[in-house]
Amino acid sequence: MATLELRNVNKRYGDQQPDTLKDIELKIDSGEFLILVGPSGCGKSTLMNCIAGLEQISAGAILIDDADISGMSPKDRDIAMVFQSYALYPTMSVRDNLAFGLKIRKMPAAAIDEEVARVSRLLQIEHLLARKPGQLSGGQQQRVAMGRALARRPKLYLFDEPLSNLDAKLRVEMRSEIKLMHQRLRTTTVYVTHDQIEAMTLGDKVAVMKDGLIQQFGTPQQIYNAPANLFVASFMGSPPMNFIPLRLQRREGRLLALLDSGQARCEVPLGMGGAGLEDRDVVLGLRPEQFSLAPAAANGLPCLRAEVQICEPTGPDLLVFVMLNQVKVCCRLPPEVPVRPGDNVNLQFDPARVLLFDAASGERLTVTGGLGAGKVTRLKGR
Ligand code: ADP
Ligand code: MG
Repeated sequence: MATLELRNVNKRYGDQQPDTLKDIELKIDSGEFLILVGPSGCGKSTLMNCIAGLEQISAGAILIDDADISGMSPKDRDIAMVFQSYALYPTMSVRDNLAFGLKIRKMPAAAIDEEVARVSRLLQIEHLLARKPGQLSGGQQQRVAMGRALARRPKLYLFDEPLSNLDAKLRVEMRSEIKLMHQRLRTTTVYVTHDQIEAMTLGDKVAVMKDGLIQQFGTPQQIYNAPANLFVASFMGSPPMNFIPLRLQRREGRLLALLDSGQARCEVPLGMGGAGLEDRDVVLGLRPEQFSLAPAAANGLPCLRAEVQICEPTGPDLLVFVMLNQVKVCCRLPPEVPVRPGDNVNLQFDPARVLLFDAASGERLTVTGGLGAGKVTRLKGR
């Protein structure tokens, strides 16, 4: 177990190219599971390869347990890595694939046998030890690749999209197994994915990357509930957060967002602070699950009558789409709600949970006095 710290890490592949990694800064504690998430080409694999020592960094420092390992060769770093392509040795049996790294490290034969037995028990591949990789399914190969990394007890595990070649059902199974394995072993882990469910479910910490920059580094809950900008907000969550561009208004000191469904209008109170925000183009962010149907009795929350455009039953939820300010907005409602396209629904949400972003910079805005701290002042139909 070890801490991992990246200090101002930069990586440039060639003098003519822009930096692939830009001032990467983060630190995780011993035993933590860090998720690196971001779109294809944002620099995730580059960062993993730099940590593993397969690529040299151009500036900055990588520290394990507070010791700078930036100049060390990969074999001296005590790191085990699992790649997206399993890269098993095709002519070797599963047993020999698992043992290979230990033989290289000149572990005594009896200790190797013991280690191979331990890992194959952990990954439930004991019955496959005599087979060659070509005689295994994708999921089994993936376990062997994982086993090869686990057959050592390194300071750090690096997983670069290990599940992306698996079918959907197996991915879900393996995701749980990886979580269970980490709960047992508690080895510090960095795990790359572009799957946001993996990011949310596996990570103690999540770093969201874009164009070689860390956009936000925090717990999954921080990333989900308080995204730093529009990019992070749009990347996490399925169906994604709804974004409604608008101009805010101020009345009697209170900042207000006006929503119009075509059927009715409602004012969403956003607090007393936020000086100058009424003059800026902003984007209102509302997650689909923040909507609910209004109860029969008024409860003080803003309520908006809207016409249902599309219904999408997913099984556990009913996704209902309405138009707000001429933007298609997804509301995640209970599956038993009896609505059909053309029906009107009375939608509600808690203004305190509405997010606000600057339209130009994408940065999230906070309103002192609390977003939605005020009461609903006016509600009108049309
Ligand atoms: P990700 O893993 O997030 O998809 P990568 O780290 O593989 O992204 O790539 C980030 C950027 O660095 C891409 O623009 C890619 O073309 C570039 N890149 C990756 N490896 C090399 C390399 N060996 N030489 C030059 N450019 C590279
Ligand atoms: Mg990659």
